[in-house]
Amino acid sequence: MEILQAHENAEIVIIGGGVIGLMIARALVQRGMSDVMLLERGRLGAEASFAAGGILAPQAEADCADDFFALACQSRDLYPALSRELFAETGIDIELETTGTLYLAFTEHDEAEIERRSQWQTSAGLSVVRIDAAEARRLEPGIAASVRAALHFPDDIQVDNRRLLTALIAANEKPGVRIVTGTNVESICTERNRITGVETSRGLLRTSRVVLAAGAWTSLIPTTVAEQTLPRVQVEPVRGQMLCFQTSPRLARHILYSPRGYLVPRLDGRVLAGSTTEHAGFVKQVTAGGVQAILSSALEIAPALAALEIAASWAGLRPRAADDLPVLGPCEIEGLYYATGHYRNGILLAPITARLITDAILGTVVSPLLSRFAPDRFDLVGAH
Ligand SMILES: Cc1cc2nc3c(=O)[nH]c(=O)nc-3n(C[C@H](O)[C@H](O)[C@H](O)COP(=O)(O)OP(=O)(O)OC[C@H]3O[C@@H](n4cnc5c(N)ncnc54)[C@H](O)[C@@H]3O)c2cc1C
Repeated sequence: MEILQAHENAEIVIIGGGVIGLMIARALVQRGMSDVMLLERGRLGAEASFAAGGILAPQAEADCADDFFALACQSRDLYPALSRELFAETGIDIELETTGTLYLAFTEHDEAEIERRSQWQTSAGLSVVRIDAAEARRLEPGIAASVRAALHFPDDIQVDNRRLLTALIAANEKPGVRIVTGTNVESICTERNRITGVETSRGLLRTSRVVLAAGAWTSLIPTTVAEQTLPRVQVEPVRGQMLCFQTSPRLARHILYSPRGYLVPRLDGRVLAGSTTEHAGFVKQVTAGGVQAILSSALEIAPALAALEIAASWAGLRPRAADDLPVLGPCEIEGLYYATGHYRNGILLAPITARLITDAILGTVVSPLLSRFAPDRFDLVGAH
């Protein structure tokens, strides 16, 4: 990692070293840029991207086949090649698992819910298999006997998001990328509606292009012109807590969902149990209420977890825009690109985000999907 010298220049500056910023840095250099600087306030990959479950499951999450669903499926489908490329570049296996997800019904209401999902996804031509309770327990004997029915989504996958971050950090250790940690971006500077640089805790950095990938902290970074703050897109933190168990032998092979929570089995026997959705500001605490809620859904899915120690617990802050959708692409300030608001799906959406943002920056043909998530869909707030 580099030490930033005051009054340096860069061709492009990425603010934020989570999965989104790291994926974009790698993509820009792969596509020919030679002076990319990524600025991270703390440590690389230590925030939401580290806290996540690594579930890449557009089908288990979606309620209809809209533009967001299309974006999510395109991104999921980029993962097998990405996994091979990262292994070739770094020797790190991101543990892409293709077993799929099981969406479980425990109540009459849950059964109606899975029926509805099964119907729209089947009529949209997607792979989904409705299975009965006996088949669900044959596939996963650790599931509670109270399961009534399930859906199997064979195309949903998972990765170990922490390995993904390690691989992305290693992949960015090459000429063309300068990564500077421990450096807070205090403001984005503009003149005549164009980017001129970023003011950091270590001095001014001149650049004509900035990618804002600061996750839940995006709205805390003002864009300024002559010391005036310009209006901005609002992104808020939504806390998610997570518990971790160590199982041996492995408890399950599939990601197990219910309408109230999920379990993510890792290859090494760890099982992650998630999660909460809380508006608690920037406080990343694990709380008694959060633990209780997660345990309740986790034990409903797999009662055997009750006998195990809680091996770890943590919380992270999901970046959420007002309509729950990502905020992607250029805005009315020339040279400023948003890559934020990924909310519950930033690991899933990182590869397509990197591709679309890189296309937009390099001025190549950009998918029409990008305009659906443009920052200018919002009324901007906070000018003074
Ligand atoms: C409990 C939980 C479970 C989740 N599970 C999943 C899942 O299974 N699948 C999925 O796809 N998604 C999941 N998510 C969502 C996913 O984690 C996020 O959408 C994603 O990590 C966002 O990535 P990011 O790079 O935008 O943000 P972050 O990883 O938070 O990175 C932003 C970075 O910007 C830095 N930064 C902020 N301000 C500044 C500044 N002023 N100067 C310099 N640097 C700055 C921060 O320090 C941070 O490192 C989950 C999230 C949580 C909390």
